[in-house]
Amino acid sequence: MQFRDLNKQYQIHKVQIDSAIQSVLDTSQFISGPQVRALEDELAAYTGVKHCVTCANGTDALQLALMTWDIGAGDAVFVPDFTFFSSGEVVPLVGATPVFVDVREDTYNIDCDSLRNAVEYVIHHTALRPRVVVAVDLFGQPAEYEKIRALAEEYGLLILEDAAQGFGGRIDSRPACSFGDISTTSFFPAKSLGCYGDGGAVFTDNDLWAEKLRSLCVHGRGADKYDNVRVGINSRLDTMQAAVLSAKLKFFEEEISACERAAEKYNQQLCGQVKIPVILDGMRSGWAQYTICLQDAGERNRVIERLRENGIPSAVYYKKPMHMQQAFSDRQVEAVSCTRTASICERCLSLPMHPYLEDAQIEAVCGSIREALAQAK
Ligand SMILES: *Cc1c(COP(=O)(O)O)cnc(C)c1O
Repeated sequence: MQFRDLNKQYQIHKVQIDSAIQSVLDTSQFISGPQVRALEDELAAYTGVKHCVTCANGTDALQLALMTWDIGAGDAVFVPDFTFFSSGEVVPLVGATPVFVDVREDTYNIDCDSLRNAVEYVIHHTALRPRVVVAVDLFGQPAEYEKIRALAEEYGLLILEDAAQGFGGRIDSRPACSFGDISTTSFFPAKSLGCYGDGGAVFTDNDLWAEKLRSLCVHGRGADKYDNVRVGINSRLDTMQAAVLSAKLKFFEEEISACERAAEKYNQQLCGQVKIPVILDGMRSGWAQYTICLQDAGERNRVIERLRENGIPSAVYYKKPMHMQQAFSDRQVEAVSCTRTASICERCLSLPMHPYLEDAQIEAVCGSIREALAQAK
């Protein structure tokens, strides 16, 4: 069994994907070919955001957003303690200071009370300026943007939506990547919408920021590539990846629906046995991951071991709170304690999840989990 079956997806949609790749080979415009702008238009239409600027990966997308706002030394950026490393990595990369914030026990997304406490701490106990909150749509479910927006307005913060896992999610009818002042996503192969290499995108309604983003991702270009008006980076989505993504976007909604059916099936089988994912009212998850929580680290180990014996892959996202990563040891402000994150890191477990998962496979996963739980008693 595959954790995320990319080959099955390719086999089913081989004709369209092959022809998209062939079209790039036929014209040999490997960088900045017409497929790149076409994809940007399609992604803007899909998310309902005015501008989409593609780039080389989801980490660069976050960095480009911070660079667009001139975030740097003396600035505090609030980041959930429970997320992939990139969400926080880009903060010291631009010279700013990360402040890690605890998450909700049920959804694993940023906790707004903890966020408020962290902002208050920074204001009263440090010389830093609170500037940005990185809100992560973890495992596919959007963060609580109504509450985050209210806090952001109160404290003058910019919202950076990290939708690397959130693409395909919604709040009511509104798609992920439309909730931040700037929003970003990743097209890493295993993400909800993945390409065949690295890729990423930045979204904003703001015309000036969009123009600056287009400059920053091509060496700070001005009138052309050899006129450089600022220091930027080299971060482009190549044409081949754009062509693959355009082909895959056409069946993306069907894939999300298939993931929703798989999640429902998992929920039925696991309800009452383990903590199943909690999706808040009005939210739709894109199901980048299906993540359960066990009672303790020992129980998680027994489940992982039993799944492995039965040939079933599983993954722990994430084992270590961000504030415990050595990389941040001398460059963060510890404003709030993140006890919920610490506990979740010991107990969470992500199960195989993708649009092509069969009912029998879900039953096998859940059967193995039940065996492991029974063995513990
Ligand atoms: C994958 C991921 C990223 C980074 O994306 P890359 O394309 O791998 O650079 C950033 N944030 C989160 C939450 C992610 O899951």
